[in-house]
Amino acid sequence: MFDMKEQSNTLRHLVTCSLCGEKYHHDRTIVLEENDLNATFHLTCHKCNTSVLIFVSNNQQNIISLGIATDMNGDEVVDFFKGGAITTDDVLSVYEKISKI
Ligand SMILES: [Zn+2]
Repeated sequence: MFDMKEQSNTLRHLVTCSLCGEKYHHDRTIVLEENDLNATFHLTCHKCNTSVLIFVSNNQQNIISLGIATDMNGDEVVDFFKGGAITTDDVLSVYEKISKI
């Protein structure tokens, strides 16, 4: 049986900082959503302080993951995603927010 939690946990521990290549320390990781179909994390690099949002989606047993660099800190991200499940629209609005900076 497919285990999204295990998959996303594995993925989270494989990802490295796109800027400096450092492995993330997960004491600063915020899990924004984690269910059978989707997982969303906010990771912050302990070395260069770059933050990234990782979206993981389980699409018919194929894991799709998407990482977006963001200058939102953990608190802002929690605010941003507060009030419900994260949808594709939310992901798009993150893109829009980032592209305006
Ligand atoms: Zn880094």
